[in-house]
Amino acid sequence: MIKINCIGYPRIGPKRELKVVLEKYWKGEASEKELLDSAHTLKKDNWQTQKDNGVDIICSNDFSFYDQVLDTICLVGAIPDRYKSKENLISFKTYFAMARGSQTKELDVSALEMTKWFDTNYHYLVPEFAKNQNFKLSSDKPFKEFEEAQKLGFKTKPIILGPLTFLLLGKTEENFEQISLLNKLLPVYEQILSKLNKIGAEWIQIDEPILVKNQNTKVISLIKDTLNKLKKYAGSSKILLATYFEKLDKEVENEIINSDVDGIHFDLVRGNINNLNAIKDKVISLGIVDGRNIWKSDLNKKISEIKNLKSNIKDIWISSSCSLLHTPYNLELENKVPKEIKKWLSFSKQKLIELNNIKIALNESSAVNIKYLEQNASDVKDRQQSKLIHSQKVKERIDTITSKILNRKSSYAKRAELQRNIFKLPLFPTTTIGSFPQTSDVRNARAKFKKNELTETQYESFLKEKTIDAIKKQEEIDIDVLVHGEFERNDMVEYFGEQLSGFTFTSSGWVQSYGSRCVKPPIIFGDVSRPKPMTVFWSKFAQEHTKKIMKGMLTGPITILQWSFVRDDQPRKDTALQIAFAIRDEVEDLEKNKIVMIQIDEPALREGLPLKKSDWKNYLNWAVEAFKISAAVVKDETQIHTHMCYAEFEDIIDAIAALDADVISIETSRSRMELLTTFEKFKYPNEIGPGVYDIHSPRVPSSDEMKELIIKASKLIDKNKIWVNPDCGLKTRAWPETLSALKTMVKAAKELRSS
Ligand code: GLN
Ligand code: ZN
Repeated sequence: MIKINCIGYPRIGPKRELKVVLEKYWKGEASEKELLDSAHTLKKDNWQTQKDNGVDIICSNDFSFYDQVLDTICLVGAIPDRYKSKENLISFKTYFAMARGSQTKELDVSALEMTKWFDTNYHYLVPEFAKNQNFKLSSDKPFKEFEEAQKLGFKTKPIILGPLTFLLLGKTEENFEQISLLNKLLPVYEQILSKLNKIGAEWIQIDEPILVKNQNTKVISLIKDTLNKLKKYAGSSKILLATYFEKLDKEVENEIINSDVDGIHFDLVRGNINNLNAIKDKVISLGIVDGRNIWKSDLNKKISEIKNLKSNIKDIWISSSCSLLHTPYNLELENKVPKEIKKWLSFSKQKLIELNNIKIALNESSAVNIKYLEQNASDVKDRQQSKLIHSQKVKERIDTITSKILNRKSSYAKRAELQRNIFKLPLFPTTTIGSFPQTSDVRNARAKFKKNELTETQYESFLKEKTIDAIKKQEEIDIDVLVHGEFERNDMVEYFGEQLSGFTFTSSGWVQSYGSRCVKPPIIFGDVSRPKPMTVFWSKFAQEHTKKIMKGMLTGPITILQWSFVRDDQPRKDTALQIAFAIRDEVEDLEKNKIVMIQIDEPALREGLPLKKSDWKNYLNWAVEAFKISAAVVKDETQIHTHMCYAEFEDIIDAIAALDADVISIETSRSRMELLTTFEKFKYPNEIGPGVYDIHSPRVPSSDEMKELIIKASKLIDKNKIWVNPDCGLKTRAWPETLSALKTMVKAAKELRSS
C-alpha cells in the first residue's frame, strides 16, 4: 500500500493570520495567549487539511513562530551570550530578541544574522557557535506540539532539524570547525528523541538538507555513525531521514542507505536516487510533487514513474519534494490569476489532493479518481498547447544569439576613455543606488490609485511632484549622478513583471520570506517579451528636470527570474534569456531617449548559484550571458552600471568581471570593505562603487568614518575607478536620515578630492 507522507506544511496561515497576530503581539496589542490561540488554530487547520486529503503520515513541529532554525537554536540551547538568557525554557522574550533584536533597558541587542535557506527565498536565522559551546535541552516545543495534535486525535510525525545541518549552517567567530561540536550536541538529540519516543511518536523525521550539498570526507565519514546514534536514541520510534532540494552525491547516499534509519526521503523533482536497489528494509519517501513551484503535476506521468520503479521495497510513501513551506496555501482562495491560467496551478492544498489521487490510482482506483486524472490530463495538455504560452518570435530570438549581441563594441578601456571625456565627472563621483524613501504618502497614493480612488492623472502628477522634489534634494546636496527615486515602483520585480508579457500575478500566492514577512512572487507562465517601454517615461521626465546626469534604473534578468515562480516546461536558462531580451529592448529605448547611464540591478545573481558546486559553471555562464544580452546593445559612450548587495563575491568574482559593466556598486560597509580585497586580488578591471554606509539602519555615520572607508578602498583599487555611494537603495529609510547621510557622503567625497 502506498502512503502519503507530509514533510512540512506552510504555517503563516491561508490569509496570513500568523503575520497579523505576530505583528500585533510585537506592538503590544495582542497577548501571549492570543498568539498561542491563533497558532493553535493554524496548526489544527493544517492537521485537519492533511487528514481530509488522505495524508497518512501527518507532521508536527513544522509550525514556527518565526523560523525553524531559530526553534532549533532554542531546542538545543545554543543561545549566544549577548541575549543574557538564563532560562531553562526559552521565553518568547528571548526568542523574539534573537529574531528581531531588542531595544529595552534590560536588553539592548541586535538580532541574529539572517540568510537564505539553501537556494530558496526563505531566510533562516544563523546559529552562532563558540569554541567552548555547550548545549542543553531548552525548549519543549516539539513535545508540546505532538501532544497538542494527539489531544485533537491526530497522530503525528514530529520534524526535527538534524544535527549535521544545524551545525553546518551555523557560523563561528573563532577559527574552528563547527562539526567538531557534534559530540557535544548529540546528547541533547538523545534527550529529544527519547522523549519523543516516550510520548508515543511512531515516526520522527530528521531533516538533513545539508547532505545534498557536496560534502568533504570528514563530514561524509560522520554521517552513518550519527544516523545510527539517532536511531538508537529514538528507541522503538522510527527515524525518517529527509533530504531535499537536490539529489544526493553517491558517497553520501551510500552512507545513509547503509545506516540504521528506517526511512529515507528523496527529492525526485530536482534529483533522483543513485542506487535504489541497495535500499532494503527501509521505507522510501518519494518526493514527486514539486514543493517549490506552483504548477499542476502531470499525474499520469507521476503514476507511471512510480510503477516503473524497479525495486523490492514494499513500503513506498509519496510526498512533495520538500516542505510545502515554499508554496502558497490554497488555490481556492485565488481571485486574480486569469482562469485559463489558474487551471494550470496547484498550491499546497492542491498538492495534497494530487498526492491523494496518485495514491488512490496506485492502490485501488475509483470512478472519482479516474475522472480527476482525466481532468488533470486535460489541464496539463491545455497548458502545453496554449497560445498564451508560446511566441514563435520570442523563441527565434534566443536562437540567434551572436557575439555581436553579447558584447559591447569596444573594450572597457576604450569605453572608459570616451565616457570620461564626455561626462567629465570629478574624482570619487557620488551617486545613489536608485530608490528614495517610500514614505507613507507614496504608498497611500499607490493604494488609492489601485482602488480607483485616484485617477491616473492625479496619481501621475503626485509622482511627478515626488520625483521633482527628489531631484531638487539631490541637486542641493550636490550629488554628481542623480536617480529619479523609483516612487512609481512597488517592488523591483513586480514593477517589471506587470509590464511584461508572459507574467501573471496572484491575489493569494503568499509565501513566507522570513518571520512575519511574506512575498507574492510573480508567475512566469509563458514566453516573455516587452510590448512597450516600461521605464522610459519616468527616466525621461527626470532627465528633463535636471542638467546633471540621470541614471536609468532597471532590474536585471536573473533577479527577475530568481524572485518569480518560473515555468517548468523549459530550462530556466531559456526563460532568463527571454527576459534578457526584454530588458535589452528597454535599454535600447532608454538610450534613444537620451539616458546616458543605465543601471541594471542584479542583487539576486549570487543566490541563483546551484547547491552543487559542479553546477556553478553552467549557471554562471548563462547568467552572465543574460546580463550581457540586456546591456550590450548600447553605444560605447553609454555607461552601464550594475548593483549587487551582498558581501560574498569570492566565489563569483570571475563572473562579475565577465558582466563587463562599466561600473558596479556593491555592499561593503557592513563588512568594512573586506570584500574589496577580493576585487583587489583579482584586479577587477572596471569601476567600483563600494557602499560607504549601511542603509539597513537609520544610523548616520560621520564623514570621517566614510572617508576612512574610501581611503581604505583607494589603497586597494585605483582611485580613478572609485565611486562613492550608499550600499543599497534608500527606499526603506526615512527622509531626515537619508538627507543627512547623503550630505555627509558628499562632504566626505569633496574633502578627499581636495586633499
Ligand atoms: N535600484 C534598487 C533600489 O534602489 C536596487 C534594490 C536592491 O538592490 N535590492 O531600490
Ligand atoms: Zn541593493
